[in-house]
Amino acid sequence: MPELPDVETFRQYLESTSLHQEIARVDVPGPELLEGIPASRLKKTLQGSRFQDTRRHGKNLFGGLDTGPWLVLHFGMTGFLAYFKQEESGPSHARLLIRFSNGYTLAYDCRRKLGGIGLTDNPDRFVEDKGLGPDPLEEGFDLETFQNALKGSRATVKSVLMDQKRLAGIGNIYSDEILFQAGIRPDIKADALSPDDLKTIYDAMINKVLPAAIEAQARPERFPSSFIIPHRRGDGVCPKCGRSLEKSKISGRTSYFCTRDQRG
Ligand SMILES: [Zn+2]
Repeated sequence: MPELPDVETFRQYLESTSLHQEIARVDVPGPELLEGIPASRLKKTLQGSRFQDTRRHGKNLFGGLDTGPWLVLHFGMTGFLAYFKQEESGPSHARLLIRFSNGYTLAYDCRRKLGGIGLTDNPDRFVEDKGLGPDPLEEGFDLETFQNALKGSRATVKSVLMDQKRLAGIGNIYSDEILFQAGIRPDIKADALSPDDLKTIYDAMINKVLPAAIEAQARPERFPSSFIIPHRRGDGVCPKCGRSLEKSKISGRTSYFCTRDQRG
């Protein structure tokens, strides 16, 4: 499921492929993913304009048009972007096709249809209306912002990290990785964490996991072997101690952690 590093990779992809080209035509093969707008309005808004800017907040990607509005994409469980020229090299479950006058097409593919396509006049207002928490990579996201985001929750630290209203962008995979790198079990209660624990988690997230994940373009095979991401689908072994990783459901999500290297 695309989380912050995946969506940041999509943002960089949109930025490197699709800026400043005239949008000649738009097809919407997946109108059921449209959020609050009819396909006709989306087409009318996009056609004839150009992307001139990109933004991301949490798991939401924004493509700013030179005419003012922003396209908003959410990737659900299986979403991604593909930019191609030959129709046969396009992805199989495109829900939105943006065709540029240079002959290339940008497709938003979402096989399981859990994503979303929308428009907004103002990304900041969109974030506010959705009640999203701060994005860990935004300017000014410091330890204090992080502490405030987690404050007052009696849930497990894993579910608090994944709560988009507290912190935007972290999901199942990266909450496990952050807590593994911090040496803290995902199933302990957030309100049992000490200030030092919070700082350790913050440092693991900001200085280690998110930069490495973006550098790896969120591809498991490109991660450092000291991360658990390449091991959760692979050998299932802790890269620190070599024992089998514990696999259990926390807040309804399958979590991986090491009972030896992560303390409760
Ligand atoms: Zn271990």
